[in-house]
Amino acid sequence: MKIGIVGLGLIGGSLGFDLRSQGHKVFGVSRRESTCNKAIALGNVDEASVNLRLLAPTEVVFICTPISLIVPQVKQLIDHLSPATVVTDVGSVKAPIVEAISPLWDHFIGGHPMAGTADSGIEAAQRHLFVDRPYVLTPMTTTPTRAIAVVEEIVRSLGSKIYYCQPEQHDRAVSWISHLPVMVSTALIAACISETDPEVLQLAQNLASSGFRDTSRVGGGNPELGVMMARYNRQALLSSLQQYRHNLDELIHLIEQEDWQILEEKLQLNQQARPNFVE
Ligand code: NAP
Repeated sequence: MKIGIVGLGLIGGSLGFDLRSQGHKVFGVSRRESTCNKAIALGNVDEASVNLRLLAPTEVVFICTPISLIVPQVKQLIDHLSPATVVTDVGSVKAPIVEAISPLWDHFIGGHPMAGTADSGIEAAQRHLFVDRPYVLTPMTTTPTRAIAVVEEIVRSLGSKIYYCQPEQHDRAVSWISHLPVMVSTALIAACISETDPEVLQLAQNLASSGFRDTSRVGGGNPELGVMMARYNRQALLSSLQQYRHNLDELIHLIEQEDWQILEEKLQLNQQARPNFVE
């Protein structure tokens, strides 16, 4: 197939690697000429350009730009495509994107690969990034079955586990397990660096090990992406944060009251609940 990718960064570049290795011809469009040249040299794409016209012959296009540019890029792109071309995006938020693009392009289906690293840009792209990772697709009732089938087949070929849901359900679910953790994790780092004794702060930095590495990882990631999550999934994220604050207050109260028994019961409940998310 002839497949287009707009936005040659971590996700777009990683997609390019895997799609090319399956024999697809991959056309990439990015903002900077230097990124286009790098993507060709690294092997992410067969051809690349800063001009969306390059994508005229493609049958499927993945939009992999930062969230705020997905809708504007689709608006410019569709002038260059044949009407049968299937368009999909990889944005971490779905409702506002699907709402805006569906009326513009019949053959559009929203998507979100639940895969990533703390790095960004074309040099962060990795082969096999999507293997065994969830990949959410959010078709509307009006989405043509052919568009769904085409994207589903490509996503399956990446080795991802496919999940279907409504865009709003996606946004609430990822708020709990992706966007809330970013805010919690960044607040954790902020709390740690608020230590006022420089010797204690230095000691804490020297002693930090796997526990801190795990809990601070997503808070130490791409700031632009964190802002996008908050901006475009604001309502769901605020609800999750308010619930989180409630749980934090409960823990503070139990510790103040030295209510070790209830604290242990809560910790036990959460210990039992965790495998439902991560195993
Ligand atoms: P990224 O590494 O920063 O890549 C985005 C790329 O888009 C940049 O490298 C930039 O390339 C290009 N770009 C910027 N403006 C553009 C424009 N106007 N036209 C064309 N290309 C443009 O970001 P990412 O992590 O791959 O994220 C991309 C999308 O994937 C986002 O929508 C995000 O929500 C989603 N996503 C991210 C993750 C994750 O963990 N990172 C996971 C799942 C989904 P230049 O070098 O040319 O400027």
